[in-house]
This record gives sequence, structure tokens and C-alpha cells, in this order.
Amino acid sequence: MTLQSSVEELNGVGPQLAKKLQILGISTVFDLIDYIPRRYDDYSDIQMISQIKPGLVTLRVVIKQAKGRYVRRGLHITEAVASDATSSIKLVWFNQPYRATGLKSNEEYFISGEFGFSGRQLNITNPSVESVSGFPVNTARILPIYRETKGLNSKQIRKAVHSALPFIRGLDETLPSNLVSSQKLYSRSKAYESLHFPENSEDLALARKRLGFEEVFRLSLASLLVKKEQERSDAHAIIFSEVLAQSFVKHLPFDLTNGQRRAVWSVYQDIQKKHPMNRLLEGDVGSGKTVVAAMSAVMALEKGFQVALLAPTALLARQHADTLSTLLEPLGMSERVQLLVGSMNAKQKANLKKAIREQSGTLLIGTHAILEADVTPKNMALIIVDEQHRFGVEQRKKLMKKAKLVPHVLSMTATPIPRSLALTLYGEMDVTLLTEKPGNRKPIKTTLVPPTDRKKIYESIKEQLSVGRQAFVVCPLVRDSDLLPAKSAEETYETLRKGPIKQQIVGLLHGKMKPAEKDAVMQKFLNKELDILVSTTVIEVGVDVPNASVMLVESPERFGLAQLHQLRGRVGRSEHQGHCYLMLSDSHQPSRRLRAVESSQDGFKLAELDLEIRGPGAIYGTLQHGDLDLRIAKLSDVQLINSARKAAQEFIDSRQNLLDYHELHQHITQLQKVTQLN
Ligand code: ADP
Ligand code: MG
Repeated sequence: MTLQSSVEELNGVGPQLAKKLQILGISTVFDLIDYIPRRYDDYSDIQMISQIKPGLVTLRVVIKQAKGRYVRRGLHITEAVASDATSSIKLVWFNQPYRATGLKSNEEYFISGEFGFSGRQLNITNPSVESVSGFPVNTARILPIYRETKGLNSKQIRKAVHSALPFIRGLDETLPSNLVSSQKLYSRSKAYESLHFPENSEDLALARKRLGFEEVFRLSLASLLVKKEQERSDAHAIIFSEVLAQSFVKHLPFDLTNGQRRAVWSVYQDIQKKHPMNRLLEGDVGSGKTVVAAMSAVMALEKGFQVALLAPTALLARQHADTLSTLLEPLGMSERVQLLVGSMNAKQKANLKKAIREQSGTLLIGTHAILEADVTPKNMALIIVDEQHRFGVEQRKKLMKKAKLVPHVLSMTATPIPRSLALTLYGEMDVTLLTEKPGNRKPIKTTLVPPTDRKKIYESIKEQLSVGRQAFVVCPLVRDSDLLPAKSAEETYETLRKGPIKQQIVGLLHGKMKPAEKDAVMQKFLNKELDILVSTTVIEVGVDVPNASVMLVESPERFGLAQLHQLRGRVGRSEHQGHCYLMLSDSHQPSRRLRAVESSQDGFKLAELDLEIRGPGAIYGTLQHGDLDLRIAKLSDVQLINSARKAAQEFIDSRQNLLDYHELHQHITQLQKVTQLN
């Protein structure tokens, strides 16, 4: 038997259990070993019966009078009395008829279960029982809780993992041995054993540290190697023209911020090289990433190269096309902007595709439509991906393939992840942060509003509308749901149309509408034909309506902090003071999370707080990095991440041969398939 053998070959795992494990994605012995617990329950403290309190308890007892009976059809009860030196307590099992016969009198057992009231009686229901003389798997320790499935609970999974223990103990080391010793890491086999059967919480922490370290080390190594390879491949060198850059800046209606200047400068330096740029521009909503994109594009267009700008929605693509035409106008380049979105008709598309094939110096802006196979730009030298976390690697790869030489890539994102984490997740890219907001921007006034003040808030909105501004109303749901007590866009739209805010024109926008309908509504809002736009989070990404100055968010507790921050970034995008009202669902004291949104305008800080309160899923969930998921390492564990990343860099610098580390090499090849863009 090997690690690749079927779990079915393990002692105590029959075909039925194997089938259920399969549902959880576990087929081989190694899959089982590598099945990471979701969390743990601490049953390690052995208590005296006379001292116990309701909750999770472990006792060391002798069991007497175990008796089973059918109370009625389908309901079997086993009862027993357990005693230690201090007292006795009743144990009850439901529908486990084998219990009574399995227990020997006058032998000592560990009992782990939940102690509480059943009717008026204190007892322990469905406890785990194990002889004190064996290796406790389901009692008297910190017990792993796994993701379960119907008919398969953590107890059974623990037993299965326990039968794989000889394999766990025989696991080979996968990290370079000098790393294991210099970083004071557990060996791989010790780590997996302690992950499933921790001796205590320190032991568990060290197990997680080792496995998390390896995860980040691999990820970093993979991306650093991709980066090295990128640095070796060929790209079009786009020579910097100072005259052009100056003339662009001269015609801007505003001064660039220092951050924008620095970002553009890095891009210009990168694209002058004969090797492809791969840069991530990370800047909060409203930090002005579009101008950076435009200035980057201009340099390539001027030299006759084609540039593609990929946007996640048609709305955004259209908006970018408008903005960029305007920005390129003074340079006489606005004709070069070509928009390609899915909703265009066949003839328009065919004409456009022909133009893209034949022309040079075009700026092609579009959605997924530009990924289609018959879109073949000539001489594409630069790709700009807006809101890059919205695109999968596959999609980005498709775009890369359209170029003859490896194109330069500028990715942009408003997802505020701290720099060190960005470097780990996107290690193959250079990261530029835009930290300051353009100058005339006033911080958005954010207010938590109790439900009793709804009328007052409507009055404030009315005031804003009466001086010509527009308002967003954002709801977590499209339609009313019996399951979720949250506001829906449709219902809110109907309510507002009946006119609590007099003489306003209301529009509705949500993800269930057809793309063309969505575009039409958004266009109306942009043209100021609508005063209020009721919507779901479809407006979250990138939409720029400078005249909108108020946002009302319904049921804000349904949103993540980073998400609320992105949402409110839709207002206050001009010289008008932006207001964001978070309409609480009840009059309870608002949560710490919501109060943080009220008091902080710092996207990075809010992201960190989300990380702390809700865990990495809160931010990480939005990144869609798919196969690159960290299963053990926490994004919040900056120290671990930094040391693993540093170790990866040192590994490369020391010119060790990756092929000497078979398993590591395999993993990295796998990861590179996911990250590598060419
Ligand atoms: P985001 O980073 O969210 O994509 P945008 O590029 O859409 O931000 O910019 C937000 C708004 O700020 C736009 O209306 C843009 O014209 C304006 N803007 C960008 N840079 C500056 C600047 N340096 N000074 C003043 N306004 C700016
Ligand atoms: Mg943007």
C-alpha cells in the first residue's frame, strides 16, 4: 500500500465509508491525511463529575447499568450511569443500540460530550466513549472538526484518519532540510500527526505553522520563478517620449497626484525594456487609476502598437471608452478608441474585428467579448486589466495569447489587501500602491442611521436632489426573500416610486436584468434622467457618476467592510460633498464593524479589520484566486507570510536545484500552470 492507494484499503474503511469520503473529495490515503480540519473542539481537560458545568466536558469514569430499549418504533435509547470518585451522572445515546453491549463494567473509559439539561435532568447526550488504555481518537483531547457530509461525521473521519496514522508517520520531508531547522519547523509527518491529533494547543499551533509555511513558501517560489521566466522572455520595447507625456498632462483638467506620477513613471520605465512588464496597480476606489491606464496606453499607441483594456462589465467598458476618448482627444487620438462588448450586433462586431486586425495603434476596450478567438489585434504590446480580481487566470491567458511577443500587462485593482499579502498572492507581479486620493476630494461623510430616522434621511436626500445631485440606494437582495430579513432592490424601488421623496425619478438596476437593460438604466442615470438609482452591488465595481453625491445603503450588516467601502466610493467623486447613510435594520447597538466604516475612510484599515473580525474569507473570498487558495496559512499572519516569502527568495538566490526536491517541484509546476500567463 502507498499514499496513492485507495482509502478503501485502510483497516476499518470499507466500501461504504470510502464512497462517503469520496463525496468529500477524498479518494486516496494521502487525500485523507491532507483533509484539513475546519476547526477544533477542546475536550482535553478531564474534569470531576461534581465540578462540571453545562458545555463540552471530558470525564474519566467507570460505567454501570448500560441498558438499551426501544421507546417506540424508530427511537432506541441506551442509558447508563457513569461514576468517578466524586459523583455519578447519566449518559444517554439515541439510536445507537450497539452501545449497551460494547461497554464493559468496571473498566475505565474516557467520556467526551456535551453536558446539559434534558428536560429537568442533567445528563450527557450521545457522548463518545473510549477505553483509557488505548489511543484516544474521539475523546480526551483537542478534537478536529472536519467538513462533514450526510451519514459521515467527524467521529468517523477521525477514525479513518487514525487508521492512516502509520502512513502519516512515514511521510517524507518535502522542504529543504536546512529550512526546516533554520525556521524551527515541525517535520512534515509530525505536522500532519499533530494537525489531526494535537497534544495541546501549542502543538497544534506548530503543526499549522509548518503546513502554512510550506503553503506560502510554495506559492512564493512558484511566482518568483514565473517572474524570473518573464524577465527572460521578449516583449516590445516602448520608448518613452517626454513630449507626449507632457502634452498629455498639460491637457488634463487637474494635476496628477504624486502617487499617479510615480505609478506612471514606473510603467514607463518597465515598458521601455525588452522584457514584459507585469505590474499590479492597487488603489482604493476613486484614487484615479484610469488616468494611469490612459497615460500608459498613450505611449504604446503613439508608436503604432495596439493596446487592449479589459473591463469586467459592459457598463464599465463603455464608461472607460468615453473617459479615454475624452482624455485622448487633445492628442488627436480619440478616434483610436474602439469599444467591443457582447451586446453589439453581428455586423458591428464584424466591422470592428476587421478594423482590429488591420489597423495599428488602436486602443481596444471591452469585456470578455475581446477574448473571443476571432479578435486578433495586430501588434498588441500592452494589456490593461481593470478590476483584475474579477478575471480568472484562464481569461487573462487567453488575452495574452493574442500577442505575438509577450505583452506588457498592467493590472488594476481596488481590493485593498496589504502590500505584503499582495506580494504573496501576486508575487509574479510588481506592486504599485496609489495611497492618496486626488486633491479636491472631501472625505465621504458616513452616518449610521437608526430605522426611526428614515424620514429624516429621506429629507436630506431630497435636499441634495433639489440642488441637482443624484442618489444611489443600495440593497443586498434583488427580490424579497422569506429566508433573509433584508431589504430588496425591487421592493425598495416600488416604495420609492410611490414618492416618499417628492418628484423624483427612480431607476432600478440589478444583476438579474439583461446586459442591455442594465446599460440603458445606467446610461439614463449618467445623463441625469434619473434622480435615484436603486440597485444591488452591481454598481460596486468602478462606476463613475461624479454628480451622484448621496448613497443610502439598506441592511448594511449584510455587506463586508471592504465592500461597503467600495460601495460608498461611488459617491463623493467630484467637488461635491459625498454622503453615505447606512440604514440599520434594527435599533440595536450597531456592531463594531459598522462603526469602523463610519469612522474610517481607509480601505486598507477596513480590510485589515475585516480580516481580524471575520477571517480571511471576508477579503480573500472576493479575490477568486481559485487554485491558489491558502488552506492553512492565514492572510492575517503577516509574520509567517513574510518569512516564507523571504525563504523562497533565498532558495532562488542560493541556486539550489528544484529538481532535487521532487514533491516541491511537482507542486510548483502545478501552481505555475495556474499563475503563468504565457
Ligand atoms: P478609480 O481608481 O476608482 O478607477 P477613477 O480613475 O475612476 O478612479 O477616478 C475617479 C475620479 O477622480 C474621476 O472622476 C477622475 O477624473 C478623477 N481624478 C483622477 N485623478 C485626479 C486628480 N489627480 N485630481 C483630480 N481628480 C482626479
Ligand atoms: Mg476604476
